[in-house]
Amino acid sequence: MAINRILIANRGEIALRIHRAAHEMGIETVAVHSTADADAMHVRLADKAVCIGPPSATESYLNHAAIISAAEVTGADAIHPGYGFLSENAQFADIVEAHDIKWIGPKPEHIRTMGDKVQAKKTAGALGLPLVPGSDGAVSDFDEMKKIAKEIGYPVLAKAAAGGGGRGMQVVPSEDKMESLVKQAMNEAKAAFGDDTMYLEKYLGNPRHIEFQVFGDGNGNAIHLGERDCSLQRRHQKVFEEAPSPVITPEERERMGGIVAKAMADMGYRGAGTIEFLWENGEFYFIEMNTRLQVEHPVTEAITGMDLVREQIRIADGKALSVKQEDLVFSGHAIECRINAEDPFNFTPSPGKITAYHPAGGMHVRVDSGLYAGYAIPPFYDSMIAKLIVYGRTREGCIMRLKRALDEMVIEGVKTSIPLHEELIQQPDILSGDYTIKWLEEYLAKREAD
Ligand code: ADP
Repeated sequence: MAINRILIANRGEIALRIHRAAHEMGIETVAVHSTADADAMHVRLADKAVCIGPPSATESYLNHAAIISAAEVTGADAIHPGYGFLSENAQFADIVEAHDIKWIGPKPEHIRTMGDKVQAKKTAGALGLPLVPGSDGAVSDFDEMKKIAKEIGYPVLAKAAAGGGGRGMQVVPSEDKMESLVKQAMNEAKAAFGDDTMYLEKYLGNPRHIEFQVFGDGNGNAIHLGERDCSLQRRHQKVFEEAPSPVITPEERERMGGIVAKAMADMGYRGAGTIEFLWENGEFYFIEMNTRLQVEHPVTEAITGMDLVREQIRIADGKALSVKQEDLVFSGHAIECRINAEDPFNFTPSPGKITAYHPAGGMHVRVDSGLYAGYAIPPFYDSMIAKLIVYGRTREGCIMRLKRALDEMVIEGVKTSIPLHEELIQQPDILSGDYTIKWLEEYLAKREAD
């Protein structure tokens, strides 16, 4: 039976994004929401809406039983988890499938494997992806860690197998700091993920973050949709993303894309995924795979013309990939700015009521956001309130258009990161594309000092 009604197990802009793709396919939507989100835009637009609990995400957006019940009551035949929340929860995916509801996501076994970073690295290595040099799997003995670190060379990065969002990671500069810093990372990992399994990696000094978008049909066919450069980061959180990367040539895209697509085909991967690499001196090093749709997926949509959510839904419905690799054309340049409700320079959250809202418009300008004038941003969730995605035939044209679009955006009543983006796109290094994952932190530190 084809999918007729999708329950969207998420909130904010991504819930609206999924609703739009579904309606364009003639599929009904069911919104689930906490009491804090009763007035959210996607709740207003969905065909049905079910309140699943109080503001706390553990009792609402992470509540398996409440979400499954909402699907049963509304007759939803598929669930899209968006990103964050339950999107990479293999147990929830298992439960969804056990209820004969289609899971719009990868096979639960692949979510499980890639969710454990030690397993993920092993799997990636076996599939032929280049790895960051490091420990062969988990290590728990400090002497063993010191021995490995000596072999790969300091500094090393101690990382939690269960890590995410940049937590449970410590850079170890020298042997005498190994024990204290690893213990710190373990405590952080234990508190955040309930698992303090650690592994070691060579700490790359000044890499870029370059990731490949992939899609598999679950039956051994897979394609890549090129790369995104997400090197502009603060505290391991992406701030703006672009596609293509300013440093990757078409030949390199084809070569590396071919390797990742083959890996996904061999694995029998189903649905959307992202393979993240660090890139330094022309070499790629696998760091992790995200088994879900990414926040930054629209830049890929802009340069390929493909609707990635539509593709996810088609695959969950058992259809073949809608394009062949050789028919996929990459054209132009796209940049996404993440707009958060926070102070643009000291980053303290700024929830509250939106008094005026006017999204930028015009040719090749897209704003993904659930905002409207009078909307009150609840203080309980992530601070991202909008994504501004701009396309141009060239990178220069894209940046000119981005300047114009940022100028047009009006969000009043709360502080936002728009002034930060306006400042960033004036910087010579950003204009020339010459920046790494260290750039923004250094820029902010210097700005603070001046
Ligand atoms: P998480 O799942 O917590 O986001 P990742 O493994 O994706 O963790 O790493 C997040 C960020 O940490 C990367 O984008 C990069 O900035 C930095 N990082 C990760 N591994 C390394 C490494 N070996 N050397 C230098 N930086 C790294």
